[in-house]
Amino acid sequence: MVRFTVLASGSKGNCTVLSCGRTRILVDAGLSCRELFRRMKLAGEEPTTLNAIIITHEHQDHVNGLAVTARKLGIPVYFTEGTHRAWMRWLQPRRQMTYAQWLEMIRKQAAERQAEPQAAVGEIDSPEDPGEVAVENSVPSAVPVPTDPAPEPSSGRPPTLKDDPTWLPAIEYFSAGQPFSIGDICVNPFTIPHDAADPVGFVFSSEGVRLGFATDLGYIPPNVREQLRDLDLLLLESNHDLEMLRDGPYPWSVKQRVLSRVGHLSNDAASQFLAADYDGQAAYVILGHLSENNNLPELARVAAERALLGRASLLANRLLLAAQHEPLSAISF
Ligand SMILES: [Zn+2]
Ligand SMILES: [Zn+2]
Repeated sequence: MVRFTVLASGSKGNCTVLSCGRTRILVDAGLSCRELFRRMKLAGEEPTTLNAIIITHEHQDHVNGLAVTARKLGIPVYFTEGTHRAWMRWLQPRRQMTYAQWLEMIRKQAAERQAEPQAAVGEIDSPEDPGEVAVENSVPSAVPVPTDPAPEPSSGRPPTLKDDPTWLPAIEYFSAGQPFSIGDICVNPFTIPHDAADPVGFVFSSEGVRLGFATDLGYIPPNVREQLRDLDLLLLESNHDLEMLRDGPYPWSVKQRVLSRVGHLSNDAASQFLAADYDGQAAYVILGHLSENNNLPELARVAAERALLGRASLLANRLLLAAQHEPLSAISF
């Protein structure tokens, strides 16, 4: 069975759980660990059964709980190299270390841990939930950074968050355009246009079921259109209503950024895709990453429904809206 559960979607945190066979992965870790675990339990998912975390891009609403969650569960994190490096720069902007030095440090730490396999992951304080994010996907800035260089770990024990906020139990790199597997799930990452280091969307497939994942993109270029075909489920961004954004509270520069080719997908752009380019194959279309300031669920729904209703063959598509503050009911295949 394949199960897809959106736990949170929007500029205050994004998390989705995908279960296929014996594999369970978390797509993005934008909620604090505590809130993630709470929502997983609400949704009937057991946090300790997660096998891996996979990250779309380094914006705060996608990585806020990443380090704490990965450490607590002792599971690997899948990034593109560019996203991983950008995430590290966010957490350690003052650390003077070249990438080669960092790799060397990680190698050394891994060797030390292997020498002492009984060492347990230390208890880590969970950070507070993120406050109101004033700007959609603002560049993160409010993370405490150690002022002194991190001390060398002495006993093979993982460094604490304070000593090294970037330490993760394991890191796996992937590249857009190169499919790979995590357990029973085949992952096909593709590049999306967004103002991050190396942002990606995904098509996940398992047991013949294909799930498309495309949020945080300024527009839908041909390569993305190409990927979002023959899907059983499509999670598509429907971020803002153009008029609400234009008349809304954001400063002009931020409005320009959201509207740009590397910003976010509007209700109009999403419905245009559904009307003109979508092949209508998915049983479920989920609208996600709705702005709380510049959108209303009704507006996003009406725009998408109008697009689907315009094509009689698509009436069987079920339209759902992913929410920021509560999980969407699990969808099973
Ligand atoms: Zn986002
Ligand atoms: Zn983003």
